[in-house]
Amino acid sequence: MKRSDCEALDAQDPLKHKRAAFSIPEGMIYLDGNSLGVLPVNVPARVADAATRQWGETLIKSWNEHGWFHMPQKIGDRIARLIGAPAGSVIAGDTISVNLFKLLGAAAKLNPSRRVILSDNGNFPSDLYVAQGFRDLMDDGYVLKVVAPEQVMDAIDESVAFTMITEVDYRTARLHDMKAVTAKAHDKGALTIWDLAHSAGATPVQLQACDADFALGCTYKYLNGGPGAPAFLYVKPALQDKVQPPLSGWWGHAAPFAFDLEYKPAPGIIRNQCGTQPILSMAALDAALDVWDDVEMNVLRKKSLALCKTFIDLVEQRLSSHGVKVAGPRDMNERGSHVSIHHSQGYAVMQALIANNVVGDFRAPDMMRFGFTPLYTSFAEVWDAVDILARILDKAEWNQPQFLAKKAVT
Ligand SMILES: *Cc1c(COP(=O)(O)O)cnc(C)c1O
Repeated sequence: MKRSDCEALDAQDPLKHKRAAFSIPEGMIYLDGNSLGVLPVNVPARVADAATRQWGETLIKSWNEHGWFHMPQKIGDRIARLIGAPAGSVIAGDTISVNLFKLLGAAAKLNPSRRVILSDNGNFPSDLYVAQGFRDLMDDGYVLKVVAPEQVMDAIDESVAFTMITEVDYRTARLHDMKAVTAKAHDKGALTIWDLAHSAGATPVQLQACDADFALGCTYKYLNGGPGAPAFLYVKPALQDKVQPPLSGWWGHAAPFAFDLEYKPAPGIIRNQCGTQPILSMAALDAALDVWDDVEMNVLRKKSLALCKTFIDLVEQRLSSHGVKVAGPRDMNERGSHVSIHHSQGYAVMQALIANNVVGDFRAPDMMRFGFTPLYTSFAEVWDAVDILARILDKAEWNQPQFLAKKAVT
């Protein structure tokens, strides 16, 4: 494959006009939108307006006048469209870790006779940590069973209360079959919690068609909501009024401004809220979602896989003599929107790449990770990134003290 082949793919790209909606530093090839999405150009003005006009001038009246109080629901509905969920089934707020705790509590209460939480060792560690804290807090015989990703289907049996699985593996990009896992879980009387951290805005998730029970995800990755942007949470409509929220705060109360001393959950998805939300971050997220309004997720998926495939092919053509190995499945239909490559000096190589303005990240023990974000990544950038990577490896440019020293965030 030549650079001109990549330029030809860019010329035909149905999403190429979207790049202008993002503020990408001149000369930077940004392949880390799976960790922190880039800044959409319309966000700063919206945040400034929320701060200076709404907060500065309208002050407390803004909860009503500027719709602050209902932002989590409004934003939830906008995210719902992107993950195959009906209106009124998604609420924005808090973080993945906090929302996961809420859903663990909800799922446990809905399947009270069982004690096994099933997950896999490709899950993001924080999800496992939260489940460990939940298990220990419950102190009621709960077991966190962690199997290999390939063993999840077989491990679903009548002991499982619910599965807690991340659809796309944050390291290998391995994609679980949501429909099959959910169907097997239901057949065995178990519920499902799906983490969509690396799915939302990257793959055409179909929560309702798959009959998923619960889901959650963040918005600072592919959805470009900004650092620490509010997360989201989904509950299947049929279960919403059965959920007993473990973080039963006033924002989930049926009448928060009645100030009753007894908790009474709001109907529907709202009961999964806990307390006051970060409105400036909500304003940023709301603006960031504008770019998605006319995006067809199947068109996005097609480009995502083509970008990943181009990268994998180029890596294998040009870097095979350097002992690199692509992680995860070879079948593109079993992959998400990033590609990791194993290399024994992966950390230092990535630091050298970043010094050359090609930004990816590193995941222990030995993976260089590259995220492909179809709204703003071009095929020519993929070609250039591999070209620079090949030079760094050919000349061992990574072998310098400033690249070998580990930073706090990798
Ligand atoms: C990014 C990510 C998280 C991060 O959780 P926060 O609470 O937002 O920090 C959790 N789970 C998965 C699978 C992730 O990829």
